[in-house]
Amino acid sequence: MDTLDAFATRKLASLEAAGLRRRLAPTSREDATHVLRNGRRLLSFSCNDYLGLAADPHVLEAARAALEAHGAGACASRLITGDHPLLGELERRLAAFKGAQAACVFGSGYLANMGIISTLVGANDLVLLDELVHSSLISGAKLSGARTLTFRHNDAAHLGELLRAHRGSAGRCLVATDGVFSMDGDLAPVGDLLAVAQAHDAWLMVDDAHGVGVVNGGRGAAHGHAVPLRMGTLSKALGSYGGYVCASAPVIDYLKTRARTFVYSTGLPPASVAAALAALDVVERDPERVAQPLRKARLFTGLMGLPEAQSCIAPVIVGDARRALAISERLEEMGYLVGAIRPPTVPPGTSRLRVTFSAAHSDGDVEGLARAMRDALDREGA
Ligand SMILES: *Cc1c(COP(=O)(O)O)cnc(C)c1O
Repeated sequence: MDTLDAFATRKLASLEAAGLRRRLAPTSREDATHVLRNGRRLLSFSCNDYLGLAADPHVLEAARAALEAHGAGACASRLITGDHPLLGELERRLAAFKGAQAACVFGSGYLANMGIISTLVGANDLVLLDELVHSSLISGAKLSGARTLTFRHNDAAHLGELLRAHRGSAGRCLVATDGVFSMDGDLAPVGDLLAVAQAHDAWLMVDDAHGVGVVNGGRGAAHGHAVPLRMGTLSKALGSYGGYVCASAPVIDYLKTRARTFVYSTGLPPASVAAALAALDVVERDPERVAQPLRKARLFTGLMGLPEAQSCIAPVIVGDARRALAISERLEEMGYLVGAIRPPTVPPGTSRLRVTFSAAHSDGDVEGLARAMRDALDREGA
């Protein structure tokens, strides 16, 4: 039998050989678009701060005031003493913003997905996931113990086939999809999925982590549809930290009573809550800013001759993992930070450069990136 160290060393060596070893790169953000890494200042197209709110003066002021007034941490689970009044205010604002009865804020989006799914379905139930959903939805399905099947990406007809074949033998049934797919940037056909789910007495959950603040005037990909479970994160376009779900009042009350990742985890720091509230102010009051990330992404896809962007995420798919890494390294030499995304985050053979756009990028920034990207693709033979 392996010792623990021998096991880890052997695993790392085989991942390294496949170009799949990952390494942290200490990075600090200098402003809404620039980061410092390896002693160099880079123009970032890798951050999820799509509206530049993580460094917005209104957001920083709100966070600073909450930090001074209420301290650095929540000091307990929300059901003990960690339910700062700002959390209730944020939940009311999120519910109103999403047109839902109520909302529940979790410690992160990942914790929200784990908690929601494992509370609403269990061993005799069925979960159906789009094949490209985020890891946290898969983790939630695993934790629930429910039978889990995947339907072809954005294929409501395939979802219908699976429901016809397997819904009958299950108790409750949950269908979950990303609203905006995190590695592809495309949108789920929410209306079609909802109709199919409803026809089979299944509950639809949409994870709008990348949709909020960006698509449908910032209200996300599920906006305008009667989706019963609308989950999102405070950590991307809202520039703060934490996760949430909007739903009916009884569903929210039940989650707050039973979701393990809510009950047994510390509440968000008040400063993060205040920052998210201030960020929501901006999203609601400044539609021009909300329109910018998609506009910048479309400028890029137009310049590159790629299919028109549907969100602020645009993938440049190159296939091989090592080639994706080499292109990312070339871009870094030219002063641009663009992440190389490899398996298991994306399916084998679809390694890519994942480019994300922010309201804070200028058109010139985007044009410069398109030139650098063409150059790097040429030189790496992609
Ligand atoms: C980032 C992300 C999450 C996790 O949210 P965090 O708040 O970062 O934990 C969940 N779902 C999707 C689709 C995401 O992209």
